[in-house]
Amino acid sequence: MATIKAIESRSVHQIQSGQVIVDLNSVVKELVENSLDAGATSIDVRFKNHGLDSIEVQDNGKGISPDDFDTVALKHHTSKLSSYDDLTSLDTFGFRGEALSSLCALSKLHVVTARAEDGAVGKRLDFEVSGKLNGATVTSAQKGTTVAVEDLFCSLPVRRKELEKNIKREYGKVIGLLHAYACISVGVRYSVSNQVPKGKKVAVFSTKANTTTRENIVNVYGAKTLLALVKLDLKLEMEPGKGPSTQSVRNWSTQASDNSRAVKVEGHISKPGYGEGRQAPDRQMFFVNSRPCALPQVAKAVNEVYKSYNHHQTPFIFANLVMDTNAYDVNVSPDKRTIMLHDQTALLDSLKLALTDLFDNTDHTVPQSTL
Ligand code: ADP
Ligand code: MG
Repeated sequence: MATIKAIESRSVHQIQSGQVIVDLNSVVKELVENSLDAGATSIDVRFKNHGLDSIEVQDNGKGISPDDFDTVALKHHTSKLSSYDDLTSLDTFGFRGEALSSLCALSKLHVVTARAEDGAVGKRLDFEVSGKLNGATVTSAQKGTTVAVEDLFCSLPVRRKELEKNIKREYGKVIGLLHAYACISVGVRYSVSNQVPKGKKVAVFSTKANTTTRENIVNVYGAKTLLALVKLDLKLEMEPGKGPSTQSVRNWSTQASDNSRAVKVEGHISKPGYGEGRQAPDRQMFFVNSRPCALPQVAKAVNEVYKSYNHHQTPFIFANLVMDTNAYDVNVSPDKRTIMLHDQTALLDSLKLALTDLFDNTDHTVPQSTL
């Protein structure tokens, strides 16, 4: 008798969904990225009971067309990518059409949405576990979209228990991630709040729709943090096989070579004498083309160079690596947080050299005011 059978599609959906939405962090990441992809300039993130009861992300983006209501939460349905070839020129955060469908399988999800032409009349969308639309009812709504996720992991009891056990730590990580989005998003106002059961709503932090990342850093971390930072504006030229050269680092803009290999590093880093007492992950933020991501090797390289100037501290760093979309692969892990950099070794060598050059030429004192 044959023992190999197909897993029923509902179970496959749940298994795969648990890989896309792995924790509280992935929920918030997916929803905020959807808001940014929709062109939002205002994003409100509201937690109830640190996210255990609900997570709500409200934006003022373009909203969802009634023509898309049926497919919005269906697996592998997206407005952002239609074929594999589009992956190399991707300029949106999302592309797999998996987040909303996964959240339907793992929580109770509903969406309220309205477009500019809908006036103050929106629709509330409810879904089945499979992501199929269950109903659209009229409700009052501003232009934009609110996605509400209740009882995260209610369909995966073990994961739910883990979440309950570790909620404070998970919540702390999420706030760190939201700090990163708030710092990198120019022209977007963020407001984050949390309401504990029977308690009042507490504002966690907020930013204005600033025009520079500098102002964002001041909103998020305070003016004092900024005073101890030096601007990062590094240009890395990598020539495989030849290794990095200081010359190419310094004179990047005058190099006539193929710029698709070049990487710019923009942001801020602690002056060597003014690092942080401990290595706090939320004070070391890395982005690739404004996409927050984990870059452990880059972090290691930065910390190594910093250590040779300041043995006792680690730097605050906010670094956006600007590079050609061909130079990396975001399609490595289901949660898209891991990025594969094609020329990592050359990039790290070049980065270390450029940072050394920067620190050697930095005024190490902290000015009274740089604002
Ligand atoms: P992806 O982002 O990979 O396309 P999602 O499951 O996150 O997949 O979203 C599915 C689709 O729903 C998106 O392609 C987009 O068209 C629509 N959508 C999701 N969130 C929003 C939002 N906040 N505003 C407007 N449209 C949205
Ligand atoms: Mg998405």
